[in-house]
Amino acid sequence: MGRYAPNTRHDPEVIVPTTHKPRLLIIGAGPAGYTAAIYAARAGLKPVLVAGMQPGGQLTITTDVENYPGFAEAVQGPWLMDQMRAQAEHVGTDLKYDLVTKIDLSRRPFRAECDSGDVYLAEAIVIATGAQARWIGIPGEQALSGFGVSACATCDGFFFRGKDVAVIGGGNSAVEEALYLANLARHVTLVHRRDTLRAERILQQRLFAKENITVLWDMVTEEMLGTQAARPVARGLGLRHARTGERRELAVDGIFVAIGHEPATELFRGQLSMDESGYLNVEPGGTRTSVAGVFAAGDVADKVYRQAVTAAGTGCMAALDAEKFLASLEHAHQLAAE
Ligand code: NAP
Repeated sequence: MGRYAPNTRHDPEVIVPTTHKPRLLIIGAGPAGYTAAIYAARAGLKPVLVAGMQPGGQLTITTDVENYPGFAEAVQGPWLMDQMRAQAEHVGTDLKYDLVTKIDLSRRPFRAECDSGDVYLAEAIVIATGAQARWIGIPGEQALSGFGVSACATCDGFFFRGKDVAVIGGGNSAVEEALYLANLARHVTLVHRRDTLRAERILQQRLFAKENITVLWDMVTEEMLGTQAARPVARGLGLRHARTGERRELAVDGIFVAIGHEPATELFRGQLSMDESGYLNVEPGGTRTSVAGVFAAGDVADKVYRQAVTAAGTGCMAALDAEKFLASLEHAHQLAAE
């Protein structure tokens, strides 16, 4: 991945890093970050949003989106995110195509340093860096992603109504995805590499009770198979038995990878409270993190719902919380000055 273009160039040869002093810095350009920006900009906070590695977030690797309210017909994920970006900019967000590489949350103003060399000193921060589905990293997986291979049953399950699908994984996510898909697909095969599931007992009970779900135990997925076409679509899995080594193919129309997510929280390790999986801890029902003035929105603090619409909702909440925080700072300054 190349370096980001700096935001200020006085001379084509000389890069001059700049120090910016926004009241509110938003990190991340998914539905949570953009929504926080829309609310903060409309509240007159003049937010700066640093977009990160994948502006637009997870929706930029999705095709049809049918569950984001407001659109009677399916819309394309990248188009939806571009609309959110345009809306955020239109109401006054200062969007920077840069990547925060270092952050200091130990004192205010908080200090964020970017790949371009630019520095942001902000009184409040909204973290909306998201999470990414973990992929297996086997042949066919990347090429077929979006063409029969998905990491989100709630997003893409609808396209496999009446068809045969496979879910890979053995945790809560995999079992929940299998149960969700069982209501849509003709048949669901859960493929797990061991002989016991990691998922909670209650979920396992529901799984085993479903007539159209089969579990393939001790099966390592080695390959995702596609049709022979210029633009191949998924047609099955290449499997190997973990103990006998026996190989077989499983024919399916859709493949759902559910082997966990990774929140993008490495930057904040040691500075903010997180759970054992690295998700940021926020106050129940709110967006405040363990540091006053730092708020979290979207998947970075949500391992349960993980939807664009819930991310947008918490983005709105984070902007409102940040606005209240900044107003209280201002009030304290006024009192001190009197
Ligand atoms: P997880 O609990 O880490 O489970 C990942 C599963 O994927 C495991 O069964 C693992 O197999 C398998 N796996 C990992 N790498 C693999 C690979 N390369 N190839 C094949 N299989 C692989 O992840 P999760 O299910 O996404 O859950 C993450 C966290 O969120 C958990 O704490 C979970 O409880 C929570 N969660 C909660 C809810 C809920 O409360 N409703 C819903 C979803 C998730 P092994 O078992 O062999 O390691």
